[in-house]
Amino acid sequence: MTSPDAGGHAARHERAKRVIPGGVNSPVRAFQSVGGAPIFVKSAHGPYLVDADGREFIDFVCSWGPMILGHAHPSVIEAVTRTAASGTSFGACTESETELAEMVRDCVPSVEKVRLVCSGTEATMSAVRLARGYTGREKIVKFRGCYHGHGDSFLISAGSGAMTFGNPSSPGVTKGSAQDTLLAEYNDLDSVRALFQANADTIAAIIVEPVAGNMGVLVPEPGFLQGLRDLCDGKRTLLIFDEVITGFRLGLAGAQGFYRVTPDLTCLGKIMGGGLPMAAYGGRADIMDMLSPVGPVYQAGTLAGNPLATAAGLAQLRELRKPGFYETLNKRAETWEMEMRSALAGLKTPWCLNRVGSLMTVFFCAGPVRDYESALKADAGLYGRFFHAMLDQGIYLAPSQFEAAFLSAAHDDGVMGRTLEAVRRAISRI
Ligand SMILES: *Cc1c(COP(=O)(O)O)cnc(C)c1O
Repeated sequence: MTSPDAGGHAARHERAKRVIPGGVNSPVRAFQSVGGAPIFVKSAHGPYLVDADGREFIDFVCSWGPMILGHAHPSVIEAVTRTAASGTSFGACTESETELAEMVRDCVPSVEKVRLVCSGTEATMSAVRLARGYTGREKIVKFRGCYHGHGDSFLISAGSGAMTFGNPSSPGVTKGSAQDTLLAEYNDLDSVRALFQANADTIAAIIVEPVAGNMGVLVPEPGFLQGLRDLCDGKRTLLIFDEVITGFRLGLAGAQGFYRVTPDLTCLGKIMGGGLPMAAYGGRADIMDMLSPVGPVYQAGTLAGNPLATAAGLAQLRELRKPGFYETLNKRAETWEMEMRSALAGLKTPWCLNRVGSLMTVFFCAGPVRDYESALKADAGLYGRFFHAMLDQGIYLAPSQFEAAFLSAAHDDGVMGRTLEAVRRAISRI
């Protein structure tokens, strides 16, 4: 099934493919797993994307999370426009960077000092380097199905013997990198304990998405995150929360505030930049002060703390700090979940809905979906048909089964009502 205007987009995609690999600058945009040509976007406002043909879509991707206020929020646009008139980059200190760093510190409990970078990938790569420098150890533990950007250490998936040595899942990742990444199972503390036993005193850090968001939304079971904290404490291993999605999403304090577990280092991105390239990593001052120019661990960036990105981030965070923002958003998400469940009740095949705050995934398989193994059972083909049945009705979902739907403050009752009607029609067709 293709959307009515796929012809125009197919031609645009063909043109793009001649100069850009796959026609995209980030793979999931290519619609590979749902089929058909990706839509080309011209503009966006509130909960809507407008494609190059002028067709409007309700957007549940929200730029993969950053647009929590909806698109083109007046405060963010005003801040960026005003700032741009005074210059776009200085490569020197600005007071706005300090202000943004102070705001992050004030919001996120575990952060005493913070370094601004340009992408989530940069934040996670740098946090792991820092953890290695601080502990003098080389191995890290990551969880199968968790995504931490495209740094070599993180592009490791399961293979035989995965409990001791990772196998590279992307050509170009060296065996050396792969061997330093140990794979554990999400929601399975025993799998982490086993890795600690087999690799005593060599593990620099555990890195985890406290709510997994990149194999679809997976909820941490009670005791899982605290269990990781306890394991690290006994072993001088650092606990890194990759809150690139959950930071400023589940609340101002992110997942660590939501679940009351304190990591040593935190990676932030997405929402923090209001839609501009901005991310950060931060944590305990004694660890952060290992960074150059105070300490020996090197990390730098020509555009780090860029004035436009800093202004956008500050403007967005100021909106999020207004009283009641998250209560309203999370309440609406709760209603959304209930109504989705009733709409999905008409589906003949099994499904499982996972939600935390304003993050949600409907898996087309029987639940519970609690780890990589169970997520993989979802029927991606059925999702592809659902995706297109929704797209035909002007609703843009993530072009993959294994992603979150993101709700924004602009997704009001009217928008949700239209979406639910579309869901009912879609499931009667797939
Ligand atoms: C998106 C994401 C990243 C990578 O961020 P980029 O800005 O795309 O480099 C890292 N970790 C998590 C949890 C993410 O969702």
